[in-house]
Amino acid sequence: IKNIAVLTSGGDAPGMNACIRAVVRTGIYNGINMFGVLQGYQGLINNNIIPMDARSVSNIIHLGGTVLKTARCLEFKTDEGMDQAYANMKAHNIDALVVIGGDGTFTGARRFSERHPVSVIGIPGTIDNDLYGSDFTLGYDTAINTVIEAIDKIRDTADSHDRLFFVEVMGRDSGCIALRSAIACGAEAVLLPEKATSLEELIRTLEIGAATKKSSSIVIVSEGHKQGGAYDIAKHVKERFNHYDTKVTILGHLQRGGSPSSFDRILGSRLGYAAVNELLKGSSRQMVGLRGNDIQLTSLDEALTAHSFKLESDLLEMTKVLSI
Ligand code: ADP
Repeated sequence: IKNIAVLTSGGDAPGMNACIRAVVRTGIYNGINMFGVLQGYQGLINNNIIPMDARSVSNIIHLGGTVLKTARCLEFKTDEGMDQAYANMKAHNIDALVVIGGDGTFTGARRFSERHPVSVIGIPGTIDNDLYGSDFTLGYDTAINTVIEAIDKIRDTADSHDRLFFVEVMGRDSGCIALRSAIACGAEAVLLPEKATSLEELIRTLEIGAATKKSSSIVIVSEGHKQGGAYDIAKHVKERFNHYDTKVTILGHLQRGGSPSSFDRILGSRLGYAAVNELLKGSSRQMVGLRGNDIQLTSLDEALTAHSFKLESDLLEMTKVLSI
């Protein structure tokens, strides 16, 4: 392998820049010509491919978002799109690709490497922490820190006015951000996609809190919660429990941005470094991930088909115990 390209695809996540920097510099350190692809797979198709040197990734380790930009690209799902992407790669003599993204990105990478002789390594980048093969995905830790900072502020006003706040957080079908935020913010309750919580149960928890002189309550609602979003839940609760003034906050896209935490900078660096070293060893169609405190490989086949329940059981139990 002589020429490697890196791209970010799907949703952006803090830590992607630290990861791009690590990929580029590890490659250059090993004598490889490095390229960046702008706007994910769309950039491969449009030949938006630029050479990268060590200085082109200077001063980005602390930045959120992705300097390579990201895009959703339907054309890459077609054979013609993939063939065009490969033709552009060939023109630059690029023989390997590092893709940073989620499930969709990995699906594209796997199909592409089956159709054309290109080595691919995937790096799990998403705030949702919903991928198999890595205990933590890139951006997850920063997103939790962002949520915590916001909810701490909400707690101040909730407490001053005796209010009940429903705060909706991101995560798609994963409750990872919600659960960790609930523990870190001392939320009174948390509603998760992975676990059914009846309205009765929630109201009972809030009633006990009110009876034991809680001056405010915060309920975290995961966006993928099956019984509706924060507005729906708040409306139903209000009909039957009116002890507090009830408010709703949807945190939204602010959770996707911001300077990456130390954890995400280090994780991004480790995964980027490992991805290039694996390509140099001859690996392909693998994802690099963090398991325990070790970097480990999972085949893209397995990463795309296997599932694991990622919510920590002790944290789940603690949501009840520590909020009394
Ligand atoms: P994520 O990687 O965060 O899951 P998406 O699902 O949007 O985000 O996928 C990112 C990109 O990966 C898509 O825009 C598309 O270009 C590519 N992709 C997704 N699914 C496929 C597929 N079945 N075949 C080829 N490319 C795909």
